[in-house]
Amino acid sequence: MELYSALEQPATGNHCGSCRSCCSAAGLSKQNVTDLELALLGPAGPDFARYAAREKDACGRFVFEVCPNLGPEGCRVYSIRPFSCRVFGHYRAEGTVLPEACVYIGRDREFPASQYYQTVPGAVRLRQLSRDYQLRKVPTTRAASGEITGLGLNLEDVWDRALEAIGRGASPELPEQAAEEGVFATYVRALWAGENNRHAEALGYYLQVLQDCPKRHDLMTFAGFHAFQIGQMEQAEQLWLSALQLFAGNPLTFSFLGYLYSHYQQWQMAADFFGAAAELEPEQLLHRKRRDEALNRVAKRRPEASVTDHPGD
Ligand code: SF4
Ligand code: SF4
Repeated sequence: MELYSALEQPATGNHCGSCRSCCSAAGLSKQNVTDLELALLGPAGPDFARYAAREKDACGRFVFEVCPNLGPEGCRVYSIRPFSCRVFGHYRAEGTVLPEACVYIGRDREFPASQYYQTVPGAVRLRQLSRDYQLRKVPTTRAASGEITGLGLNLEDVWDRALEAIGRGASPELPEQAAEEGVFATYVRALWAGENNRHAEALGYYLQVLQDCPKRHDLMTFAGFHAFQIGQMEQAEQLWLSALQLFAGNPLTFSFLGYLYSHYQQWQMAADFFGAAAELEPEQLLHRKRRDEALNRVAKRRPEASVTDHPGD
């Protein structure tokens, strides 16, 4: 809301004639709206998302000809209207036109589309807030990628650039650490440190991220991995068990625990955790192989029954 408040006093002043053309699907092409803004809209979010995407029905007609938030008195969600609604008219990407009746024609600031983040005040901040918000969202599938989804990478941005480079196996230079960094920046630092085998650093960054995103069981699993790498076994165990309490559907967490109990030579526990990983991810043959190895160890330890031990004797 701090960002929205700042935008209430645009440098160009508010001259809007309220013709409402920019609140209709035919008035302009689809609007980009982040999940964070949709969440702020509350119950009005889902329909607005369909409107902003200019969704069409089977006959090719817009599902919402006009914005579902537009009422007889104007915008019904004015105080929480999305960013694109706020800056519309004040800034215009090259090659686009404002609606014919728009009072901003001639007063708008045109910019090359590639310069969006450099030109439109608040765009970078919105991006940062949106990424931080994405990071807080808890993955509900068994995928254990730790990735954030829902935001395309913008290579103008240093953190997105770093993330993209790490993703293709490079080791980018990261900016000097600032006094206050967003949680997304800390997450990129964690990834970077992990990829460079700086496990203690990676663990520290993941733990920082988890303070802001305490429900991210996948990041907790990664934090545990780095704890394990530096011999912090108890911390690793605690992180993985906590991750399982949040979400018992990630095979990676189970298999990491399998390795931990193998390390402790607690073979039955190891077999159980590898077995659970195998059930969740049957196509990953390594889980089954590890489970069977652990079960063999269990069998070897079991004392052979002898005639004198037999309960009938
Ligand atoms: S949210 Fe409000 S300002 Fe934005 S398009 Fe809808 S009615 Fe118009
Ligand atoms: S098209 Fe222009 S004048 Fe009309 S409501 Fe939108 S910003 Fe205001």
